[in-house]
Amino acid sequence: MRYFKESLIRLLYPAHCEFCGKPLALDENLLCETCEQNLEGLAYPLEKSLVDEQFENLDHAWAVYAYVTPLRELLQAVKYRRKDYLLKTFKNPVAKLATSIASECVYNALIPIPLNRVKRIQRQFNQSQILADLLQPFFKLPIWSNLLKKKYFIPSQTSMTREERVINIYGVFKVSSTKQTEGKSFLLVDDVLTTGATASEAARTLKKAGAKRVDLFALAKTNLPIKKEKSSSDEHP
Ligand SMILES: [Zn+2]
Repeated sequence: MRYFKESLIRLLYPAHCEFCGKPLALDENLLCETCEQNLEGLAYPLEKSLVDEQFENLDHAWAVYAYVTPLRELLQAVKYRRKDYLLKTFKNPVAKLATSIASECVYNALIPIPLNRVKRIQRQFNQSQILADLLQPFFKLPIWSNLLKKKYFIPSQTSMTREERVINIYGVFKVSSTKQTEGKSFLLVDDVLTTGATASEAARTLKKAGAKRVDLFALAKTNLPIKKEKSSSDEHP
């Protein structure tokens, strides 16, 4: 009965693929089959999800997807067009990676990378918080959204090099309770891992307050060139 009702609604109000705009078939939801498959193809296999670059203060970093089309556009729609329901399209690979990490690593809490207050009010949600909510059932851990706070607004980092980002973000976070941090292990949650400067600064702040281990779970990772030697020319512009 429910299926008929849903089908009838779909016939009366045709839905379109959130990425390519093609009308959706009755059994498709949010994305058409082609876009769904393209998205699926961007998920890293489990053994490749552990990011092999080193990020100073992070112990480990995992990413679910490569940050390219159509994932990039879907995530931008989440952030800038407030389509937070689109996070649902990432559910299956997120579940797979979360289950695998949860079976091997022990944490005390999940910590979404905070947005500053003004930005959160403008956007009405923090995408990292929604992602942490998505991960919660697999880790069965509390989400400590108030432990790490962003002290002030920083300019957009999109066009900065890693060095500029590190300077830009230094000191931006504070921990609200050292007592809650001491000796604990945390899994930070963020949407996109670019140079790792933000997550690494969050980890530095938590470790300064006594945290034992800080890892990162990112939804996507930008394709940085593989570094042969550590040199500034290897950083993307
Ligand atoms: Zn499509």
